Amino acid sequence: MKPCECMKTDKLCEDCRKKLDNNIITQKEIELAKSIYKLAKIHPELNEVEIKHIIDIGKILVFVEPQDVKKIIGPGSQYVRELSDMVKKYVRINAIPRSTKGFIKSLLGNVPINRIDTIYTNDGELFRICINRRYSSKISISPENFGKIMKELSNKNIELVFE
Ligand SMILES: [Zn+2]
Repeated sequence: MKPCECMKTDKLCEDCRKKLDNNIITQKEIELAKSIYKLAKIHPELNEVEIKHIIDIGKILVFVEPQDVKKIIGPGSQYVRELSDMVKKYVRINAIPRSTKGFIKSLLGNVPINRIDTIYTNDGELFRICINRRYSSKISISPENFGKIMKELSNKNIELVFE
């Protein structure tokens, strides 16, 4: 998700509350956005960082512009460690990928992709990413969640299948 202004306050706006109720965003994603805003009060340079996406896949991925990566990681990784302590999850800062393939890689890690099929449906194109079943244990994200996140990141319909 992209952090919302309401996460600077104690109360979620109606939109975000609905998204949380419908599992479109997670509690941890909200917690991390709030933690970044809190930390920015102590370390004002964090106000210059535009958070593009926060994604909870067990660990939490934060996507920022390439020039902001160092700023949010902080001196000696201080800020990212603090964020990680605040939400009690491993937090990884990523430069926002320039391509859909880059997003796929940041979610799946270095797992080999057998092929990508393009399927034409009534709803437009669907990209099916086929991965050998033996790598399924290396991927922490469920295919359902993967599809949802890729839609948010790339605005494309992308599904993950093990074969
Ligand atoms: Zn909101």
